[in-house]
Amino acid sequence: MADIHLHFNWDQEELVSAVEAIQILRKHNVTLAVVTATPAVNALKLRKAGGEWVLPILSPYLSGYSRHNWYTDKALLGKLRTMLQTGNYHGIGEVHLVVGLGPGYQSPVFRGIAALAEEFAVPVLLHTEAGSYRYFEKVCRGFPRVRFLWAHAGSILGAKDSAAILQACPNVWIEMSARDPHHYGSFLNADGTIPADWLQVFTEYPDRFMTGTDPVWKAQELHRWDRADEGWRHYAELNDFHRRWLAQLPDGLQEKIRLTNAQQFWLRKSTAK
Ligand SMILES: [Zn+2]
Repeated sequence: MADIHLHFNWDQEELVSAVEAIQILRKHNVTLAVVTATPAVNALKLRKAGGEWVLPILSPYLSGYSRHNWYTDKALLGKLRTMLQTGNYHGIGEVHLVVGLGPGYQSPVFRGIAALAEEFAVPVLLHTEAGSYRYFEKVCRGFPRVRFLWAHAGSILGAKDSAAILQACPNVWIEMSARDPHHYGSFLNADGTIPADWLQVFTEYPDRFMTGTDPVWKAQELHRWDRADEGWRHYAELNDFHRRWLAQLPDGLQEKIRLTNAQQFWLRKSTAK
């Protein structure tokens, strides 16, 4: 399985070392892992402990306490460029665009991030929170040469939003992490089956979906500050959730979403040009 949404944040490392995290991934037969971290350099620790199948991506949250003020750092874009020049990062993200909070997609800092993604030909893992796909549509149309991976299929949005965005923007892929009971709530029916509208969009766009576990715990408690994040200790539950719904798909489609779409997306340089 490709797990394309992992975090190795400072408050996770307090509980699970990089070596232990790699052991957990290996135990679950993860053969491609995409990891982001706060602070950004923490992602490199998993690569070092695991090897080439671990792809660090560059979070703009460069310090441990910058998740909520990163965009105010006037020197940020220069620092990101220097870090991308090392060749150690295979993408940019996770970047959060939350309507009414933090920078908008037209802000200089976000435009700068998109320009860096284009310059270095790396994709952007983008998490938006908005009431419809229309917000993200402005982003993917606004930066047509950037490949975007839409985190959590828009977090709370439905299958129709995914279908609409895939139709609107050929530079968008979608990932289903955090659509489980522990994050945004399960996207599945109460009996665990895949809803018809989701099955339809997976079938219609078989090459555009992938998935991951997003092992941050009690994601509802976004601003929890007093305890370390035990997400990696729940990795098995999260991975099982995804494998259960993947297993319901026809073989060819299942293999694409579980593994090969991610391999094609992450292991090539750029298609957007
Ligand atoms: Zn996210």
